[in-house]
Amino acid sequence: MAKSKRIAVVGLGVAGSYLLNRLSSDHDVTGYEMQKEGEFQAVCAWGTSKKELSKLMKPLGIDFEKYILFNGKEMVVDLGAEKNPRRIPLIGLVTYDKHQLEIDLTKGKKAKFGVKATPSLLKDEGYDMVIDCTGLHRSFLPKVKDDLWIPCVEYKVSYGEDPALGTHNDFYIKPFEGLAGYLWSFPLEKGSAFVGAGDYKKRHNEALSAYQNENPGKIEKKIGRPIRISPPKYCEPFYVGNVVGCGESIGTVFPLLGEGIIPSLQCAELLCENLYNLPRYRQAVLDKFEYFNYVYDIIKLKFEGRFSMVRHLPLMLKTYNAMKKMEDRFGLEVRMSDFKEIISTY
Ligand SMILES: Cc1cc2nc3c(=O)[nH]c(=O)nc-3n(C[C@H](O)[C@H](O)[C@H](O)COP(=O)(O)OP(=O)(O)OC[C@H]3O[C@@H](n4cnc5c(N)ncnc54)[C@H](O)[C@@H]3O)c2cc1C
Repeated sequence: MAKSKRIAVVGLGVAGSYLLNRLSSDHDVTGYEMQKEGEFQAVCAWGTSKKELSKLMKPLGIDFEKYILFNGKEMVVDLGAEKNPRRIPLIGLVTYDKHQLEIDLTKGKKAKFGVKATPSLLKDEGYDMVIDCTGLHRSFLPKVKDDLWIPCVEYKVSYGEDPALGTHNDFYIKPFEGLAGYLWSFPLEKGSAFVGAGDYKKRHNEALSAYQNENPGKIEKKIGRPIRISPPKYCEPFYVGNVVGCGESIGTVFPLLGEGIIPSLQCAELLCENLYNLPRYRQAVLDKFEYFNYVYDIIKLKFEGRFSMVRHLPLMLKTYNAMKKMEDRFGLEVRMSDFKEIISTY
């Protein structure tokens, strides 16, 4: 049996709250979260796949179903006034109370809220390992060269007792031209939704205001932060000295959708499996998220206006094949026709 470690987990979002819970049974783990306990915000649209989350939470004794707020049936992809929207059948895409799950994972564990951890603050604490789960901040690892992130803003909107939730009563997205991001509306508990937008070319605030005018509801809160979409391949190093990164801090966000919950949990699981062998952890992360690289390449080509459906068909096929094999994990039916239509429209 390997010797147990003294570990600091910095950042108690998706990856950090999971690691604090999962590693505390065998190690002496302290979690640090810069947000205060009562004010903790899980900035995100809370959309994920029910099957994958249930699988990931089961070993922790957590019944994921209890956190589900909305079960989706189809995702409407708005292709503008000229075209009919695509209607993608959903197979387990849900929204869940991400805030509550993250808080619950820290209960009964050594968690310090309201503490912004820095390398100098933890220097004399004698930790064997410091896990950087600070997401976009990446506070303990060197800066990523050519880091790519998308600015986002999100409103929690309440539509009162009207079950129609504005005009959309299921998952809805509208991509921005150049596939530079999209606007979304994800239903939450009855009568409310997260409505947000993220756009590399910074049209998100304007688009969100226009949407809000067309689909008026009461704005309960406004939140936002950028999402890192540079995949792990471009977020090295993953570890330096006694520090190791996990989650969005090392790029585990699916670049096409800005979807980081499942990848960050999968990354946390890889770290647990390879806690005593960081070179193996590095390789496991690079292998697991290799398919992010094709998607990232498509996105970059699109941003630069250099994407060609003919020349870059191999990239499209690789992305499609990878996603098709993981329909359950994405929570939606992956169809080539949707792919082609969305990419050629935008
Ligand atoms: C607007 C928006 C909508 C999104 N919607 C979705 C979605 O619907 N589905 C999906 O799968 N993904 C979504 N994502 C992406 C997803 O939320 C993230 O990729 C995921 O949360 C990353 O998990 P993480 O644990 O790596 O980092 P985070 O969950 O971001 O957690 C990082 C934590 O570290 C804390 N922190 C930072 N620095 C310090 C420090 N120095 N000391 C202490 N604490 C610190 C922060 O306060 C935060 O709590 C969305 C992101 C955004 C911004």
